[in-house]
Amino acid sequence: MKPLLPAVDAAGLLREAGFALLLRDRRPVELADLAEAAGLDVQAATSAVASLAQAGWLDLDESGRVAGAAGLSLATGPHGLTLGDEAFRTWCAYDSLGIAAALGADALIETACGQCGTPIDLALRGGMPERNGPERLWLADGGADLRGSFCTPTVLLCGEEHGIAWAEGQDGRGRLLDLVEGARQGAADWAACADALRRLS
Ligand SMILES: [Zn+2]
Ligand SMILES: [Zn+2]
Repeated sequence: MKPLLPAVDAAGLLREAGFALLLRDRRPVELADLAEAAGLDVQAATSAVASLAQAGWLDLDESGRVAGAAGLSLATGPHGLTLGDEAFRTWCAYDSLGIAAALGADALIETACGQCGTPIDLALRGGMPERNGPERLWLADGGADLRGSFCTPTVLLCGEEHGIAWAEGQDGRGRLLDLVEGARQGAADWAACADALRRLS
């Protein structure tokens, strides 16, 4: 996902409530439960959910329940994120890092270098990466299309050299961060989602 300010709009409330319920219950979220958690009426929530899903801001399963929100997915996504002993997928590498950081979680990120495909396993303790490198995070600038322009190019790179190569391949449209910088920024960007989880737990 692309970071946003704390929600004051329906889209943000649904995104944060969806994230919190996915984490709390670890199963797809019925729209009625989502609407209630977001403090919206079901009709308003249903139409907002449809447009959010179309724009890639929520994932729906075949029954129309929410299965992914704010970068966190029960089943879909190229990056693995294990929180405690529960396995999730995420839409981009920044999601994995930011979500674990905001939750202050012990976590394992399983992904691969965007440039060469070398597997990368990164453990976090209390939300902070256990090592600060050699991997780098590429944080794309993003654009109109959330998944295509932000999530797809936002990856970890196995080291500085492939970080630079990736940045060149992206025409410099983004920033290379070290893992601790990525976790710190992610903790801020997912703070509202983590608050929603505390509120709803
Ligand atoms: Zn993302
Ligand atoms: Zn590499």
